[in-house]
This record gives sequence, C-alpha cells and structure tokens, in this order.
Amino acid sequence: MTTTAARPAAPPRPLPDEDSREYWAALREHRITLQACTSCNRRRFPATPSCPYCAHPEWSEEEAAGTGTVYSYIVVHRAFDAAFAADVPYTVATVDLDGGGRMVARMDTTPAIGARVAPDFVDHPEWTELRFRDQETA
Ligand SMILES: [Zn+2]
Repeated sequence: MTTTAARPAAPPRPLPDEDSREYWAALREHRITLQACTSCNRRRFPATPSCPYCAHPEWSEEEAAGTGTVYSYIVVHRAFDAAFAADVPYTVATVDLDGGGRMVARMDTTPAIGARVAPDFVDHPEWTELRFRDQETA
C-alpha cells in the first residue's frame, strides 16, 4: 500500500497577462502601478482590457503611492485555498487610494473604516504581494 504524506499546499501565485504584467513587475520592484483610462482618466484595479467606467480600450500606467483610506474590509474565517488554512482569520481590505483608484489587498491587522493605510510588500520566491498596513498602529 502506498500512502502520500500530507504536504502543505503551495500558495497560488499570480499568472500575469498582457493587462496585468506591468502591475506585477512593478510590485516586484516595490512600486504600485495602476491602469488609468486615457479617455475618462479614472484609475482601475484589477487590470482589465478596457475601462469598466466608459469602455475605452486604451490606458496608461500610473504610479500610485499606495497610501489611502480603508473603504471596507472583510475578515476571512474559511480559507478559499488550503495554502491559506493556517492563516485564518485574516483581513482583506478595500482601500481608496490617494490620487484615485480603489484596491483590494490583505492586511495584517483589522482596521477601522476610514483608517489611513500604507503599502507593504511581501516578497515570495517568484512574485511580490501587496499588503496594506494601518498607519495608526504601525
Ligand atoms: Zn474610462
């Protein structure tokens, strides 16, 4: 009888496409870039092939400081992937960025709505993850 020892699942890693390639490459350099529509000038996240506000197909990449204000958050109690089972509970926040745009990323603390946050960059072997940290508790 053959048995397979249980191993922790490898965390899923992003698979950049032509729309998100610059975002992931910038994170690797600890920078944040967002697509900005060349027609209505709104920033968007995640990267999409056209503007979700006006459907214009062209964009430019804009650098964002990554500071902003917590719009909302959830606390994850059930891991969506076995690789995160040991991490629960953890917080995922929606942040209105200074300069425009709204992003979603994990936080190591549970913030208050309206809390000021700043970016943190977590380097994994093949990619870099953006997280937000509460500026008031950091
Ligand atoms: Zn637009």
